[in-house]
Amino acid sequence: MIDLRSDTVTLPCKEMLRAMSEAKAGDDFYKNDAATNELEAHCADFFGVEAALFMASGTLANQVAIRCHTTPGDDIITDETYHVHYYESASTVDLGKVVLNTVRSPDGILDVSCIERGMLNKHRSNLSNHVSLICLENSINYHGGKIFPLEEAKLVYQFAKTEKIKVHLDGARLLNACAALGVSPNEYIKNADTTMISFSKGLGAPFGAILLGSAEDIHKAVKFRKWYGGGLHQSGFMAAAGLFGLKNNIGQLALDNAHATLLAKQLQGHVVVKPTETNMVMFDVEKLGTTSHKFVHLAQSVGLLLYPWSKYCVRAVTHNGISRDDIIWAADKILEMLS
Ligand SMILES: *Cc1c(COP(=O)(O)O)cnc(C)c1O
Repeated sequence: MIDLRSDTVTLPCKEMLRAMSEAKAGDDFYKNDAATNELEAHCADFFGVEAALFMASGTLANQVAIRCHTTPGDDIITDETYHVHYYESASTVDLGKVVLNTVRSPDGILDVSCIERGMLNKHRSNLSNHVSLICLENSINYHGGKIFPLEEAKLVYQFAKTEKIKVHLDGARLLNACAALGVSPNEYIKNADTTMISFSKGLGAPFGAILLGSAEDIHKAVKFRKWYGGGLHQSGFMAAAGLFGLKNNIGQLALDNAHATLLAKQLQGHVVVKPTETNMVMFDVEKLGTTSHKFVHLAQSVGLLLYPWSKYCVRAVTHNGISRDDIIWAADKILEMLS
C-alpha cells in the first residue's frame, strides 16, 4: 500500500523510537521532566521566541491559544476555510465560548481588507462584543497546502497591532511553507503573537505540537492547557519524538514538497489539478462523471490510499514515508484509473 491520505500517517522510525524510549522523563507537573524542558527550551531558541509549550495535539494548542487571547463572547476573525473554523468550530465555541466571525476570502488569503470586512459586518460599540483575535493559517489545508504570503502576514500583523487585536497563527505545516518560501520560520512567526507547529505531520512524530509565544502568553497557556485536560506527567517520552523530528526531519520537507510538485505535474492535462505549492495535491474528478469516494475506493483496490477531500475533490499528501519512485508509481496508477 502507498498511503497518500495525509502526512499524519507516518510511523516513527527506529531512531525516533529509540530517542523516545531513552528520554529523560520526570513529571512535567513539577517541571522536572527533563526531556519536555529540553524540547521547550530548544523550540524557544530555535524559533526565536520567549517561550514554548508542549501540547498533545495541534487542536489543543489552537484551543489553548484562543482561550489565552480572548474572553468569552469576543469575536475571532478568521477565514471560513481555516482549521479553527472548518474543523474546530465546535471546540472553539464550546471551550472558548467565542464567536467565530468567519470571512470568505476570494482565494483563502485572509488579508487586511477581508479582516476589515469582518470587523464592519456588525454593530460595534462598548456594549457589543469585541474583536480580540485574528486566526491565520499557513500552509492552508483546505486550499491544498497553499502558502499564506509573508508580505500579507506582515500587513495583517501591523494592522492588528494598531487595532489592539492579537494574532494566532495555525502553522501546523508552517515548516513545509517556509521550506517552499525559502524564509526562516523565525522570520515568519514574528508576524503573530502565538504560533502552533505540529510534530505529527511532516516532522514524522506520532503526536504532539508546540505553542510558541511571549512568556506572558505561554504562562497563561499552561493554566488553560491544564483546564482542558492537556496537562501531562511523563510527557518527555512524547516530547522526545518532537525534538527528534525537529532535529532530523526538517530537511525532508523540501523533498516532500518536490514530490507533490512532481505528482501534480504528472497529472496535469489529464485531470484538473489545483496549484501545488507545498506537499499536497488536490484534483477534481467531477468531469470524469465520478465522485471522490468512488475514485478513492477504486484506488484502494490497486494499492493506493488517497483521501476524498470533498464530493469531487481527491487529496494526496506527501510525507517522509514516500519516495520519488512511489510518486511515479502512484501517478501511473491514477492515470490508469483516469483512462
Ligand atoms: C492537522 C492540523 C491541525 C490539528 O492538529 P492535530 O494534531 O491533528 O490536532 C490544526 N490545523 C491545521 C492547519 C492542521 O492541518
